[in-house]
Amino acid sequence: MPFDTEFIKARQTQLNSLAERLGRTITPEEQQQELAKPICAHCFKLETADDHFETCEDCRCVSYCCSEHKQLCLEKHTASGM
Ligand SMILES: [Zn+2]
Ligand SMILES: [Zn+2]
Repeated sequence: MPFDTEFIKARQTQLNSLAERLGRTITPEEQQQELAKPICAHCFKLETADDHFETCEDCRCVSYCCSEHKQLCLEKHTASGM
């Protein structure tokens, strides 16, 4: 599966679980807040309060949960431009 499809899927899962937690449909505002949270571009893990993610120094638009995933994903990321 291509990288972007997996990423979109992870974001959808994230929104679905928030709606499930709230027991209702989320507002566009809540959706925006939720999507602003960093997600690891390698394993699609969500950043938590006690788990600070590293940002790509190049584009600053993707995050990684650990330096290992940063290394693993960086090559693919720079090659695809995502
Ligand atoms: Zn990760
Ligand atoms: Zn980058």
